[in-house]
Amino acid sequence: HLSREELKALVRTVPDFPHPGIQFRDITTLIGHHQGMAASVHHLAELADAAGAHKIAGMEARGFIFGAAVAVKLGIGFVPVRKPGKLPIATIGIDYALEYGTDRLEMDPGAIEPGQKVVMVDDLIATGGTALASAELLRRAGAVIEQALFVIDLPDLGGAARLRDAGMDVHALMEFD
Ligand code: 5GP
Repeated sequence: HLSREELKALVRTVPDFPHPGIQFRDITTLIGHHQGMAASVHHLAELADAAGAHKIAGMEARGFIFGAAVAVKLGIGFVPVRKPGKLPIATIGIDYALEYGTDRLEMDPGAIEPGQKVVMVDDLIATGGTALASAELLRRAGAVIEQALFVIDLPDLGGAARLRDAGMDVHALMEFD
């Protein structure tokens, strides 16, 4: 398997996306590399397996790519945490604050059996707002949330620290300043 250093070299940095001054960390190049995708999933699955995951939850949209692959690797189910208006059933949802404005996540309230240990997977953690809102929503559906896994952490934005302060076990395969 490729090392975490080799995986980091496969992430493409795009300046000024989606706004001037933002350095977007683009995983398209990582997942397009067959060993890059496989090794990322391998490392994440090892962590989720050690945590005793009963299910994997992934956040739309890039969390689906890694989360679904981890779930298949571990032989467990996958729960999508969705952008609003996508699910065809009655959902539960949570609104959360962004830097400018608010956003919303929704899920199927029957996706989890009460007490199931659910590990969250996303491509990147920045401020942690998405992950904290997802954890609260999944808990309302009955999940026990103890671990969150990311391909990329931007530690300067403090999200991983916020999750750890909230009692979560947080891992990322790489960090960018
Ligand atoms: P947060 O809620 O932690 O501030 O932001 C994390 C969410 O925004 C994740 O769902 C992630 O996909 C997305 N995101 C923010 N910045 C980037 C970036 O530079 N690269 C990628 N791939 N995703 C980002």
